[in-house]
Amino acid sequence: MLVTDGIHMVEGVKGANAYLVTGSQLFLIDTGLPGQEYRICHYLNNIGIEPTVLEGIILTHYDVDHVGSALKMQQIAKCPIYAHSIEIPYILGRVKRPGIKRWLPTATRPFYGKLNSPTELYSLSRELGDWEIIHTPGHTPGHIILYRNGIAIVGDLFQGGEIRLAPTYFTWDKDKLRASVQKVIERPLRWILPGHGPATPASSHWLDKLLTFCS
Ligand SMILES: [Zn+2]
Repeated sequence: MLVTDGIHMVEGVKGANAYLVTGSQLFLIDTGLPGQEYRICHYLNNIGIEPTVLEGIILTHYDVDHVGSALKMQQIAKCPIYAHSIEIPYILGRVKRPGIKRWLPTATRPFYGKLNSPTELYSLSRELGDWEIIHTPGHTPGHIILYRNGIAIVGDLFQGGEIRLAPTYFTWDKDKLRASVQKVIERPLRWILPGHGPATPASSHWLDKLLTFCS
């Protein structure tokens, strides 16, 4: 589904939303749970894009419902995978995810298959193509969002619909999360494209509610 300004929400992906962004470069943002590569490729084919023209896969953070199909998509598209440097050891599987998240790949395995970790990731800097990369720690230590012209692809910083925060029991550090929310909502925002829930116009009503949370 084309949301706005050349940005597609990839339909049919289980787990977190995956987005295809077009513009100066073609990127896939997040990849859903394991086993979603066929759904992602099916969507790309439907809109006339060969998966091999993807120039990169960007992971907002290390959770299994975002990174699950990253390795398979990399093998199909033959493109690099990017994440924040703090997040890379977790995504590679060299450092265990903290708390309950350590067990999520095991919990989802009977339904979606084994999480195969990527073997090589590139560290994101502050820009990639025409996107600004903003480090937004809180949900996880190396969580990032992408920002361009009032559009924010926010991973699990916010959920869509009635814009709200991700469940607090999944939060790594609440103080850092507050600071990250503050940093993002100070910017001009037109669209919030979340990992969970629908793409949502960034009305001041919901953003004010988040400001209350931050105070
Ligand atoms: Zn998450």
